[in-house]
Amino acid sequence: MTLQKILKFRKYGLYRYKYMLVLYHERPKSMYSAMALVPPFILIWKAKQMYNSKLYKHECIHHRQILELFIIPFFLWYILEYFISRFKGMKHYEAYRNISFEKEAYYGENISNYASRPRWYGFLKFYN
Ligand SMILES: [Zn+2]
Repeated sequence: MTLQKILKFRKYGLYRYKYMLVLYHERPKSMYSAMALVPPFILIWKAKQMYNSKLYKHECIHHRQILELFIIPFFLWYILEYFISRFKGMKHYEAYRNISFEKEAYYGENISNYASRPRWYGFLKFYN
């Protein structure tokens, strides 16, 4: 395990996992476990997820997507896809899972080294 503690203060922490800097804030009731921020940062809300390697793979794929779209366009596109799905009548979770970036990340988290694949803009394959 390459998770290395840098700072810990009550419910907050900063850890390093491979290239990632993991900001940790304990929120056990949160619906989600983690969120990719601007690389190399990710945010984790549940302590038990700190040792979930699938989660790091998922967030690593998001980091690649963020860099492929030069950061800000990624977040705009992400939000836009979400709202288009909501506008079409999907519930929150369904709209979230319908975002092409999420579809690629959920697909790739089960494949080893998916994020370091040679092809670019893989999320377009999941866009519909
Ligand atoms: Zn995701």
